[in-house]
Amino acid sequence: MPRDPYDVLGVARDASAQDVKKAFRALAMELHPDVNAHDPDAEEKFKEAAEANEILSDPERRATYDRYGHEGLRSGGYAPNFDAFGSISDLFNAFFGGVSAGRAGPAPGGDVAVAVELDLLEAANGAKLEVAYEVVERCEHCHGNGAEPGTPITTCARCGGAGQLQAVTRTPLGQMVRTILCDECHGDGRVAEQPCGECRGRGRVSSTRAVEVEVPAGISDGQRIRLGGHGHAGEAGAPDGDLYVLVRVRVDERFVREGDDLITALDVAAPLAALGGVLEVPTLEGSASIELPAGTQPGEVLTLRGAGMPALRRSRRGDLRVLVNVLVPRRLSPEQRELMERLNESLSEENLRSPESVFAKLRRALGSQAA
Ligand SMILES: [Zn+2]
Ligand SMILES: [Zn+2]
Repeated sequence: MPRDPYDVLGVARDASAQDVKKAFRALAMELHPDVNAHDPDAEEKFKEAAEANEILSDPERRATYDRYGHEGLRSGGYAPNFDAFGSISDLFNAFFGGVSAGRAGPAPGGDVAVAVELDLLEAANGAKLEVAYEVVERCEHCHGNGAEPGTPITTCARCGGAGQLQAVTRTPLGQMVRTILCDECHGDGRVAEQPCGECRGRGRVSSTRAVEVEVPAGISDGQRIRLGGHGHAGEAGAPDGDLYVLVRVRVDERFVREGDDLITALDVAAPLAALGGVLEVPTLEGSASIELPAGTQPGEVLTLRGAGMPALRRSRRGDLRVLVNVLVPRRLSPEQRELMERLNESLSEENLRSPESVFAKLRRALGSQAA
């Protein structure tokens, strides 16, 4: 039977989550096989500590253990799964903050993602938008070195100022030495004797930042704009992260976008479609005149060249495609009905003949539905 996790970590039964974390951290540092090659049992002890931590750091698991012990956890389907050597390293890395094998030195700042929303006209014209976001910045009070101004910063005792620790890994092929980041100074090689009061020694603080983002004309929904160096501050000596602005373009009631083209539908009464004429169609900027040829059929598409969206970072513009939606009149007055009857009687085969095949007509009708 495994040992009592409280005993393993050396914490009281009413220890807080913070106490559990602290105790495991201290134990892990002592026992981790990568840094404790001289103790042949270190790996086993580390596993035991990690399992104890897995139980006590999860409130649900901890409650189950408190009531039913290890037996209860086993029957509840919980079993620790870090028996492979690699996963111990993974666990270690996760616990100590992303120290990956082979990497040493200060960590670069993380990226930040924010979303902005604009309407289609703004997307067409380009826009300058101010975005505000939460970001980790270098602490102004200590200039990022983590020490209260005027207090000494001393060489890290743990790594002797190197910022790195030599980690010995036992593998089936023998011992392998790799370098990991010093957990005491986080790669600085130096530690503050009196941590900065503003940032509690971290050298970084969280704040809200606003930047102006230039959204280029022609941007599409879902595209991202990268602002290099506007993300989270890196550790001293490492680069800052980037800011990614996700652009969302609101759905427009008048236009559907297809690449650089815009598509709109125009209602035309059947007699007008037969007669033809000049019509007004909505455009991004307002409206424009378009010629409707006599005999325009339902589903035909008229094109207004250059009235679509600007192509991103190019001078050309897409087209506005106008889908002609022919409306057949309903609810006729007696007078209109008489006119229709007379028109219908006068129509001959010659008036209705189309050069299109049935197949072409179907394809056009189905295609226009898809648009
Ligand atoms: Zn500070
Ligand atoms: Zn150190």
